[in-house]
Amino acid sequence: MTSEFEAQLRAVSLRVTQPRLAVLAVLRDHPHVDTDAVIALVRVDHPSVSHQTVYDVLRALTDAGLLRRIQPAGANARYETRVGDNHHHAVCRSCGAIADVECAVGHAPCLTASDDRGFVVDEAEVVYWGTCPDCVSAEQTA
Ligand SMILES: [Zn+2]
Ligand SMILES: [Zn+2]
Repeated sequence: MTSEFEAQLRAVSLRVTQPRLAVLAVLRDHPHVDTDAVIALVRVDHPSVSHQTVYDVLRALTDAGLLRRIQPAGANARYETRVGDNHHHAVCRSCGAIADVECAVGHAPCLTASDDRGFVVDEAEVVYWGTCPDCVSAEQTA
């Protein structure tokens, strides 16, 4: 039986390995977690996987386009398996929670620069900063 992840790895000419499959599964189930969280989650089922292996897997899968790496200002790099759809992120200033926000246009660049200064623009990086619902209700009850 070939899993979806095995097919994805083969499609980008990466060898199918247990750590690579584990990292993809962890990030499908827990989008937007950082490296330390990926390591902890992978080790639940694969206790012998080393830190270095997870770092290497994250880099290889990101380079191959199977993972997207996001790094909100002031936060650790986070990873997700949702790639290629130009979605954006809302980040909570209080707790750091991250949520996906659909791109209104659906393709990059979704914002047209008022003056592109002659650049050929292919992406607009949009981060919505604010307060997540949990933190809003915590403030209201406090
Ligand atoms: Zn929050
Ligand atoms: Zn996302």
